[in-house]
Amino acid sequence: MSEIKYRRIMLKISGEALSGEKGNGIDTNTVNEICDRILAVHNLGVEIAIVVGGGNFWRGRSGKGMDRTTADHMGMLATVINSLGLQDALESRGIQVRVQTAIEMRQIAEPYVRRKAVRHLEKKRIVIFACGMGNPYFSTDTAAALRAAEIDAQAILMAKNVDGIYDSDPSKNPDAVKYNKISYQEYLNKNLCAIDLTAASFCKDNGIPTLVFGLNDPDNIIRAVKGEEIGTTIY
Ligand code: UDP
Repeated sequence: MSEIKYRRIMLKISGEALSGEKGNGIDTNTVNEICDRILAVHNLGVEIAIVVGGGNFWRGRSGKGMDRTTADHMGMLATVINSLGLQDALESRGIQVRVQTAIEMRQIAEPYVRRKAVRHLEKKRIVIFACGMGNPYFSTDTAAALRAAEIDAQAILMAKNVDGIYDSDPSKNPDAVKYNKISYQEYLNKNLCAIDLTAASFCKDNGIPTLVFGLNDPDNIIRAVKGEEIGTTIY
């Protein structure tokens, strides 16, 4: 077993990743598979923070004709549903998990307190940050970037249904070329979309690398924390 490169990581899981083939809602088998992978990384002693999206239930920008702030509040609540589902599945594997919400709902989860979150991580508890940043007009990618900076995570890991970042859509262009590495500046210049541009700009300014890789191989998360070059690294 080679050395662990990243001792504290931010794992960004999109809402859609939890819905499996269904494409919406939560698919229990899919959540269980993801949690088995997270357990394997946890067993290596890696400190894991998670930000989960809400797109499997609702995205603020889909609320056509709605007040955007209200629509985004609905999206943030969707992330709470996913966070509680993940918490339950991880706890059934014997891991201690704390959900912290950016909008207070104390009967359900802890409010976000940075120092408490860091303490949980030091005690090898997994911390799931729900409600994104708590502000409308932002995404959970940006929340992952912000929380990663606050807790001193060494990298953001983004498991996707494609195996990295390409110069064009690989499902439409058979000649699409995958980047092994790309700087945030080039990523921003090319307007790529694996991580949203607000998050990419924040990570650039704060020197946090993002590792984008495919969920197709269960061992990819472990390879990523060991620093093996899989997928695409944005630096
Ligand atoms: N959201 C928000 N502020 C945040 C994070 C999320 O308003 O800081 C809302 C927004 O409406 C977004 C929804 O929550 O569409 C779900 O998050 P996201 O779209 O990032 O989920 P994903 O695409 O990763 O499933």
